[in-house]
Amino acid sequence: MTKRSPSHFKIHFMSFKSLGLNNALLKAVEKQGYDTPSPIQEKAIPLILEGKDVLASAQTGTGKTAGFTLPMLQLLDGTRHPKFRPIRALVLTPTRELAAQVYDNVREYGAFLNMKSTVVFGGVKAKAQIATIRQGVDVLVATPGRLLDLENQGALSLKRVEILVLDEADRMLDMGFLRDIKKIMSLMPSKRQNLLFSATFSREIKELASGILRNPVLVEATPENSTAEKVSQKVYRVDKGQKTALLTKLISEGNWKQVLIFTRTKHGANKLTKKLLESKISAAAIHGNKSQGARTKALAGFKNNDIRVLVATDIAARGLDIPLLPHVINYELPNVPEDYVHRIGRTGRAGAEGEALSLVCIEEMEYVRQIEKLLKQKLDTQVFEGFEPKNNDEPGKPNSKKPQRKNHQPKKRKENSSNSNNSQSRNRRRKDNRSSRRSN
Ligand code: AMP
Repeated sequence: MTKRSPSHFKIHFMSFKSLGLNNALLKAVEKQGYDTPSPIQEKAIPLILEGKDVLASAQTGTGKTAGFTLPMLQLLDGTRHPKFRPIRALVLTPTRELAAQVYDNVREYGAFLNMKSTVVFGGVKAKAQIATIRQGVDVLVATPGRLLDLENQGALSLKRVEILVLDEADRMLDMGFLRDIKKIMSLMPSKRQNLLFSATFSREIKELASGILRNPVLVEATPENSTAEKVSQKVYRVDKGQKTALLTKLISEGNWKQVLIFTRTKHGANKLTKKLLESKISAAAIHGNKSQGARTKALAGFKNNDIRVLVATDIAARGLDIPLLPHVINYELPNVPEDYVHRIGRTGRAGAEGEALSLVCIEEMEYVRQIEKLLKQKLDTQVFEGFEPKNNDEPGKPNSKKPQRKNHQPKKRKENSSNSNNSQSRNRRRKDNRSSRRSN
């Protein structure tokens, strides 16, 4: 395999040909340098080719995009279509970046087919998008908001859609797109094939799936929420005010070259980027308030090593295709534990050594517990010499214990102490999150 060889692409020995793909697609796959289908591809491709609705559990990095794009293109290629090329396949994604990436894949995999495709998302002018759609496209990749805008304007019709893909459906729900998705459903013919991909399976996702999919086949790339196991994870307990200094020290002294850092807010991302630049560490922020041009530029700079550090919010980083990432740092922990899994999935995907590090102040200890509960695994918690936290009093927990010194495992906590994750507080957190995310 020439492109890259994450571990989940290696262990299987099936060929793409045996999955039933046609020569034009096999040629495109070969051009990409893939020789072995990933598990999700191996499972999903034959089912999709059979016309089944599929509910797939797959994260970014598993090869899921090819998993739905290749069979989708083959099905479209095999059906006759009117000359004016109505939209016959719609792929919905939560973010602009993911939409752009999926579109790139559609073009690459469809290179040897007579297939037209385009992508629409917000943040850029609609005029060129409208003009392209007018010329006729078979496959449209879109974010929900812009898609509905264009439909409202009469710039496109979804009445001929035969295949619908919801990519990263969990994230779409987190971003508050449920209503938009329902509206979009109502604009399509009810007889169609539906494919839903999601990294996590909450009750909400299951509900959405049961409303959309018909007798779906469940396909799993990895056991639910398990990416974390493949990544070396560490927590440094540190006071809030010391996080930037510790981070700068780690990056400089470790001579880290490609670091993805997560902050919880856009403002936090900007502030941290500024501080890193002041310390002569090249960095760029990527979040929803940045123009599309600035986001694309930052990502390109990061990929070609001009920029050492990319500081991102969860939404902006979602679906980014950044291979071989050695360091992922949680400058702040997310308040939804599933987001932690998504974040650190960016370092496991390379198959090479990867480390996910979280800088955790006392106020965030509750989040650590939520994450440990989700992963069913304790996180290695240490303090860094010279950055020992002074504040060890957890809010609402007057007698909290001091953290252990570097290389010492914390004592096992009583299970009950981490059990304040009742569904009420979880729902509240999701709600808070949703309202802050809509603008990302
Ligand atoms: P995805 O999970 O769709 O974001 O894909 C992750 C990365 O894996 C992308 O950069 C793909 O180009 C690459 N990829 C997809 N399928 C394969 C494969 N069968 N072998 C090697 N790389 C692949």
